[in-house]
Amino acid sequence: MSAFDNMLVRNKEFAAHVSSEGTPMPSLPESLPYVKSLIITCADMRVDPAHVLGVDLGEAVVMRNIGGRITPGLIEQIGMLGRIGQVAGETPGGGGEFHIVILQHTDCGITRLAGDSALLANYFQIPETELEAKTVLDPRSAIAMDVAALRAITALPASWIISGVNYDVTTGLAEVVVPPAPLRTA
Ligand SMILES: [Zn+2]
Repeated sequence: MSAFDNMLVRNKEFAAHVSSEGTPMPSLPESLPYVKSLIITCADMRVDPAHVLGVDLGEAVVMRNIGGRITPGLIEQIGMLGRIGQVAGETPGGGGEFHIVILQHTDCGITRLAGDSALLANYFQIPETELEAKTVLDPRSAIAMDVAALRAITALPASWIISGVNYDVTTGLAEVVVPPAPLRTA
């Protein structure tokens, strides 16, 4: 059986489980206060929050890109997420705490692109001369800089909580690099 065939078999098992347990979230709720967490992480197949952090269905919005980095494209999507809430008359986390988790990891494939400065500069939408500041070779440093990048976006609510986590692909342990704190102090 191909990998794809296997996926379809597992989906049938999943659907059978869902129908026996009762569908947990059959439609997107009218409002977004249920969104309590946004996890920004790498597309790497070893770093799926459903496994690594045990994130359950409907528990968090997960956005993944190469490196789990804050890029203009990702910021645009955070804005769209907020807009989906505005259309429903809510903001994510409305009435409660909203937590953004930046989850990057060791041995990230983005480090193999370090020599391709034109590609990375385009990804981050910065001049190649500023690439060094993105510290693609050092996840801890990259996490700190991406947390700072989100803090600098004043359009995001100051009360949103942000934290930064480095996942070690060899030990399976998630290390808190930036402890949870509001985006900005009032
Ligand atoms: Zn990665």
